Amino acid sequence: MESEKKGKKLLSWYFDFNLLYRILIGMFLGAILGLVFREKIYWIAPFGDLFIRLLKMIVMPIIISTLICGAASISPATVGKIGTRIVIIYLITSAFAVCIGLLSGLVFHPVADLSNYPLAAVAGKDVASMSVIDTFLNIVPTNVFKSVNDAQVLPVILFSILFGLGVSYLIVSDDEKLQKSGNTILSFFTGISEVMTKMVTGIMQYAPIGVLSLIAVVFAKQGPKVVGALGMVVVAAFSGYLVQILLVYVGMISLFGLKPRRFWHEARNPFVTGLGTRSSYGTLPVTMTAAENLGVSKEIYSFSLPLGATINMDGTAIYQGVCATFIALTATGMALTPAQMGTIVITATLISIGTAGIPGAGAIMLLLVLDSIGLKVEAGTAVAGAYAMILGIDAILDMGRTALNVTGDLASTSCVAKSLHQLDESKWK
Ligand code: ASP
Repeated sequence: MESEKKGKKLLSWYFDFNLLYRILIGMFLGAILGLVFREKIYWIAPFGDLFIRLLKMIVMPIIISTLICGAASISPATVGKIGTRIVIIYLITSAFAVCIGLLSGLVFHPVADLSNYPLAAVAGKDVASMSVIDTFLNIVPTNVFKSVNDAQVLPVILFSILFGLGVSYLIVSDDEKLQKSGNTILSFFTGISEVMTKMVTGIMQYAPIGVLSLIAVVFAKQGPKVVGALGMVVVAAFSGYLVQILLVYVGMISLFGLKPRRFWHEARNPFVTGLGTRSSYGTLPVTMTAAENLGVSKEIYSFSLPLGATINMDGTAIYQGVCATFIALTATGMALTPAQMGTIVITATLISIGTAGIPGAGAIMLLLVLDSIGLKVEAGTAVAGAYAMILGIDAILDMGRTALNVTGDLASTSCVAKSLHQLDESKWK
């Protein structure tokens, strides 16, 4: 007991210090170590590989449990008009967001020279040569257990959503037995989802060390020239975030006859809180207050905002588009093909449903987006090198994408409230 207490105290300087700063310091130290010691620091690589393995370990259970719980709570049977409208608007804005991310990637062309890594020449070949019809057909699994085993993302996503919807119908069934079974299944997956969130939080405690090692190896192999490339990823992502606000949100708010200026006046609070907390869930109370101040009826926002914090991730979708472009360019030396872009739009839109509103969740989901276009993150490959670079700056990208995620929830909620005459427009004067 005594020694345990002592151990905790010994490490309290580490655990008590803000995680965001720890990761940034890890990245900075990693860069310096890599530049100073070059090949003498290669021994550190397994510490980084361990981090990537930990992330990969939890990705499938997270996506399955979050999607089942998310879908079980959005059944049209229980929420009728509000649910259908809000889900459609969430999906449309997310699809726009991925396109903006991909476009931003095309414009800014973020790429790093990882010439000391083996080029992933064959990566993505399967997807690139697949027709659009095949891409769609392959979303339907013929054997879902095999899909889970082979880490095929889209079939698993589709199955989980359909399964979740099935559960939601059980929950509202008149038959008491069925209702009980539905609730049991839901609480089982809710439990798994909660455990996974705890595991992510735990794994993120290791992130500063993981990021330090990953970045040290990248800098040791490539030298300082990768800094510019990472800067370009940040510029591309934040430009995408800005375009989404100016084009999609302002456009949408105006289209529904509301004042963008008034919207922003309230939205800036959740926006800034999202920046600071990097968690849509954590920002929820602030987003709800903003909705209240904008005159959205409680009936709408008490449902749509928690749902949005779970399934609507526009910032994350943009981030997926930009990072997939960067990693493909860096690791294969080739731009994304139209088939790959199509796959990314579908995958990233659906994946945003399965991304938990907690710090760093988007980076774990990026593994799945990459997988869907044939880019496997395996130790020592260029794909892993490029992914490691993204992990190094993920905290910065996460700040922006979370701010956008919550702003998107509020914008969609306001528009749906207006369309259902559930908005007190005197609050918009
Ligand atoms: N941190 C984000 C959020 O809470 C999710 C992500 O990592 O993309 O909204």
